[in-house]
Amino acid sequence: MDAKYYVDGVIAKKRAVIAKSITLIESALPAHQEVAQSIIDSLLPHSGNAMRIGITGVPGVGKSTFIESFGMMLVEQGHHVAVLAVDPSSSKSGGSVLGDKTRMEKLSMHTNAFIRPSPTSGTLGGVAKKTRETMIVCEAAGYDVILVETVGVGQSETSVASMVDFFLILMLAGAGDELQGIKKGIIELADAIAINKADGNNIERALEARNEYVSALNLMDSQSSVWDVPVLTCSALTTDGLEDIWSTIRDHRQKLTAAGELAEKRRSQSIDWMWSLVQEGLKDRFFRDPDVKVQFQKTIDAVENGLTSPSAAARELLRLHGK
Ligand code: GDP
Repeated sequence: MDAKYYVDGVIAKKRAVIAKSITLIESALPAHQEVAQSIIDSLLPHSGNAMRIGITGVPGVGKSTFIESFGMMLVEQGHHVAVLAVDPSSSKSGGSVLGDKTRMEKLSMHTNAFIRPSPTSGTLGGVAKKTRETMIVCEAAGYDVILVETVGVGQSETSVASMVDFFLILMLAGAGDELQGIKKGIIELADAIAINKADGNNIERALEARNEYVSALNLMDSQSSVWDVPVLTCSALTTDGLEDIWSTIRDHRQKLTAAGELAEKRRSQSIDWMWSLVQEGLKDRFFRDPDVKVQFQKTIDAVENGLTSPSAAARELLRLHGK
């Protein structure tokens, strides 16, 4: 396994090599991880030029349909589009909210599109970490728009929002926030909200929902000094409104770039990424420490039986690890 083979293949945009590199990155084997790390290091200078767009929304809101239509629109305009998925459900249930359906049929056949199904194992942090690295690979391969999709059901939005330039939340008309499982904290991550399925006799209701969200957003503090979060309507099915969403994303990019906010956002995302890797590495080392392993079960038993306090037990395990 020679890192150069992968690096050259990715830069030459060989699909099979791109896919193999991502598989290496997702592998948990230490030998794979070592090569993967050197691939990422070599690709990093070739990355960073893409528009990184996160897309979330509850199951059924129309994410796959949206990405199929939006992605097709972009490839037809000459863009190279990569679609990555962060699927928090897959590690727990064994089944996947994002992966089971036949999705994005047209886009997946297009030569200028690359779709990577979500990994089926790993913690959320792990999955999201691989997504960042996968994004680097796709950018180095020349994909200039990266769409990162996640199901709007919990923590995964926060980690996706922390790796993209623009975070889009898809919503439905007529379903309250509660019903949509969307929490206020998640709305605060949005750079735009789009009410999907604004077609047929649903248009009226979509416009009403739009007004409601506009009022709700008025009560929130803006994250950026140059950007007010717009609420749009669209139909992933008819493609109405998709062009508007694209121009909104470009407008956002232009304004944030001019104000220096995009560079600042990326800088702080890199620092966050570094700290999350440090945390993960420390945790990893701790659990693999033979001294800790020996005492581990005994300590858990002692805490469970009330023989040791949790804080004393934690101190002891950390002391063992620090030896
Ligand atoms: P996901 O679970 O968020 O990926 O949602 P899907 O893309 O699978 O869509 C769920 C259902 O909603 C499917 O039956 C789609 O055909 C339908 N759907 C998606 N977008 C639209 C839209 O804009 N208008 C209408 N009428 N139906 C849509």
